[in-house]
Amino acid sequence: MVAKIIDGHAVARQVRDECRELTKALATRGVVPGLAVIMVGDNAASKVYVANKTKACSEVGLKSTVYSFDADTPGSVVEAEIRRLNEDPQVHGILVQLPLPAHFDARRVLGAISSDKDVDGFHLYNVGALVQGETVFPPCTPYGVQKMLEHEGIAVEGQNVVVVGASNIVGKPMALMLMQKDATVCICHAKTRDLAQFTILADILVVAAGRPNLIVPQMVRTGAVVIDVGINRLPDGRLVGDVDFEGVRQKASYITPVPGGVGPMTVTMLVYNTVQSAQRHSLH
Ligand code: NAD
Repeated sequence: MVAKIIDGHAVARQVRDECRELTKALATRGVVPGLAVIMVGDNAASKVYVANKTKACSEVGLKSTVYSFDADTPGSVVEAEIRRLNEDPQVHGILVQLPLPAHFDARRVLGAISSDKDVDGFHLYNVGALVQGETVFPPCTPYGVQKMLEHEGIAVEGQNVVVVGASNIVGKPMALMLMQKDATVCICHAKTRDLAQFTILADILVVAAGRPNLIVPQMVRTGAVVIDVGINRLPDGRLVGDVDFEGVRQKASYITPVPGGVGPMTVTMLVYNTVQSAQRHSLH
């Protein structure tokens, strides 16, 4: 068996087209979806991520504004700006680019975002709503994975899903979202003993550990769907995921490449969450 490669760019394009249509419809009512991005400090990777986000917004017709602060800005100043944006009717989504400088209390800053503008879904209210299966802001990376599965017509209900990685931004929300869709979910992490005994049971294997070549063919069941969230830069400069792509491809039914798999979906789902938020706000 040779797996079908799920083209993240193609799925992302389709979701962005949907966002563009919704944005056009909102424009007829004088609403332009607005995203505010808070960036603190001078992190080079953060600058690239923020540039990608603002570019994706403008391509779809959203208005994005970046609020940059020096690394030594007091947390209270950033929180005050967030509170101002909470009240701004032209802003429908607010995100704080992480990581924040070490002296910041990230939970406190994220907690200042109004839960109905929290497009990243990291506010504790929305995390709780996710647990209850009620969030309107599913976190963007796992939401992107869910959209990819839907796009390929891969049913989740009753399937054995193994999620490798238990972070708050990928692994945990991924597990919750698939459990909400009635999958049987197992979460593995760095302390899991004998990872292979779990991964081999997976009908759908989602890997988000940040370890190149963690998943090799003998850990994968024939016909499994393999979603590789990992992004790793090798010493030779190549970008790879967590899965031995060429090996596992011979065994899986579907597989996502890195780059060009989950990556393009993450930014797209941020745009999607912002447009959906604008739509909800416009109905109030
Ligand atoms: P993290 O470092 O916060 O969490 C990693 C998780 O993997 C932890 O739960 C850890 O216990 C687990 N883990 C580490 N080594 C393991 C091992 N040997 N066996 C089993 N589990 C192991 O990372 P994160 O923020 O969740 O990101 C994970 C990966 O996904 C990274 O490569 C990151 O770059 C990538 N990522 C990609 C996107 C995207 O858009 N494609 C978005 C976010 C993160």
